[in-house]
Amino acid sequence: MKTLLISLIIFISVSAFAQENFKYIVNSEKKQFMDNMRLNKIEYPGDSSIDVTYYKLNLTITYVPNYLRGIVTVNAKSSTQSLTNFFLDLVDSLSVDSVSLNGKLLKFTHKNDKLNITLDKPYNSGDSFSVKVYYQGVPVSGGFGSFVFGSHAGQPAIWSLSEPYGASDWWPCKDTPADKADSSDVWITCDSSLTAVSNGTLEDVVNNGNGTKTYMWKNSYPIAQYLISVAIADYVQYTTYFHYAASDSMPVENFIYPETFSSVKDYLDKTTTMLEVFTQKYGPYPFLREKYGQVQFGWGGGMEHQTITSLGAFGEDIQAHELAHQWYGDKITCKDWQDIWLNEGFATYSEAVYFEATEGENTYRSMIQQDMQAAKNASGSVYVQNISSVNSIFNYKRTYAKGAVVLYMLRGIVGDSAFFDIMRTYAADPKVAYGVATTADFEADAEKVYGQSLKYFFDEWIYGENYPHYNVSWNYSPAGGGNYNINLNVSQTPNTNPVFFTMPIKINISTSVGDTTVTVFNNLQSQQFIITVKGNPNDLTFDPDNQILKGISITDTIDPTKPKTFYLEQNYPNPFNPVTKIKYTIPVVRNGFVPVKLVVYDLLGREIATLVNARQPSGTYEVSFPLNSSSLNSGVYFYSLSAGSYFAAKKMILLK
Ligand SMILES: [Zn+2]
Repeated sequence: MKTLLISLIIFISVSAFAQENFKYIVNSEKKQFMDNMRLNKIEYPGDSSIDVTYYKLNLTITYVPNYLRGIVTVNAKSSTQSLTNFFLDLVDSLSVDSVSLNGKLLKFTHKNDKLNITLDKPYNSGDSFSVKVYYQGVPVSGGFGSFVFGSHAGQPAIWSLSEPYGASDWWPCKDTPADKADSSDVWITCDSSLTAVSNGTLEDVVNNGNGTKTYMWKNSYPIAQYLISVAIADYVQYTTYFHYAASDSMPVENFIYPETFSSVKDYLDKTTTMLEVFTQKYGPYPFLREKYGQVQFGWGGGMEHQTITSLGAFGEDIQAHELAHQWYGDKITCKDWQDIWLNEGFATYSEAVYFEATEGENTYRSMIQQDMQAAKNASGSVYVQNISSVNSIFNYKRTYAKGAVVLYMLRGIVGDSAFFDIMRTYAADPKVAYGVATTADFEADAEKVYGQSLKYFFDEWIYGENYPHYNVSWNYSPAGGGNYNINLNVSQTPNTNPVFFTMPIKINISTSVGDTTVTVFNNLQSQQFIITVKGNPNDLTFDPDNQILKGISITDTIDPTKPKTFYLEQNYPNPFNPVTKIKYTIPVVRNGFVPVKLVVYDLLGREIATLVNARQPSGTYEVSFPLNSSSLNSGVYFYSLSAGSYFAAKKMILLK
């Protein structure tokens, strides 16, 4: 899942929550009830006495009036001896007419959002049964809009978005991602003028002869309850093909509002390239027998419903994000919401992986830079502590940005080749593929490929909080034979948890005879390293490739009057119109000159202007942007400075 205009969307959802809270205060009885429901859901993630094997949703949905009638079939196995009753999750606002097994009516009660069903006889562990639940009502939308009767251009649009707790807002299920069904069917009967879209392949469309049609969608892969979706509108259908082998292809099916189609077609056409990139990096697309699809809905973001992503915004970043979820999120689903970074961190990092493959290193680095900036402001551990709050689970800085930075840092430690080997090994691991995973499962695969323990890394970056602040000082002394001993002192400002971070750290030392890069393993709060180099040391760079999310202050023995570090300043004024100034600093370096490139990009990562592309000596520089009076549109732009091994990017806003 991803919201496109992060700050805007968060603002809206916060105010929506405030309104909800206000309603609760006005109606304290309801508040009490909602709190209980929420607690029940969290503390009791579905009935553990059953193992669901199959869901069929047979839904009749009308727009006038807004109404849902459903027959949901649940096949399950008992996971206990002598099971005589069990429960499904379903909100009380929908009313259950009957529950049956082999045509025989079963006793049930429906309260506190649980549908308690009494079976016809005791079922022992492993015994299967199949129940049908007949229910109806007007779904009340919760979470991010679990079931919405909306509109577009004055026409009906109906959609679901169940993640995380909203599936039971519109159908009876075991509302936890921990128990996937082996397969599912979704049949939707709706007005003939509309098209109903869901997971898997469309087996048939039946014209009922009464102004309605029934769309029969079949999914033959394991699926989590929250990835089952419906989307209904007067869609334009546009199909392309992903040729994944010389003689095999898979359809990419797009369902788009008629008024939107022409403006997003170019983005839809990039989907096959995205499939190629992720196939190469992560292994085969997980649902090749069926399809990949993108369906438009009215929520301002995207949601990775299995084989059919729902999109309310279009663009390479959001589409790459949702597609990557098909591997990490859908094929492998986080077992619980505490581990949501296994979905969202992976999909967010995949955006950068996609742009690295299609646009190269600079775009990749500038995206990571933005993730790092957000990750530094993350509070609490990536492992979500409070899963009773939807906003806490989907906290952008922590779950998305810091989750992505964790993968970026892992790649820095193990190297490119081992990193993508880890990603593919995890995606194919029979223990989790088409199943569910926790952080420990990913950690085990990472360690298997890397061949060493990574416990320190996951402990501090997933279960710990914040990031290291390094205080670095160094000096050197001659060691004879033209060699010098660098005396490097690294101490960390104490953090809460962990108190300090254990990390391998690259150190680049430039001397009169060349550059040397070594890796030190920093596993003490305060630690000294002696590094012997050839030639008189000129400069030392701590973590030269910026592989660690960190704060740093460095003191060295180089001439104190000269700038010691590269620095890219925030442009001024900002926002600007028509012109702004960008300042940066180049420190003293060994051979006197540094190759410097200062480039401006738009939101899509397209290069707008190259402001500097030259070799420059130490000093502070100021450049104006735009260089000429320009026809640039209002909006967000990025500028990045690459200088030697330094890279930094910042955001600026043109307001006309
Ligand atoms: Zn996502």
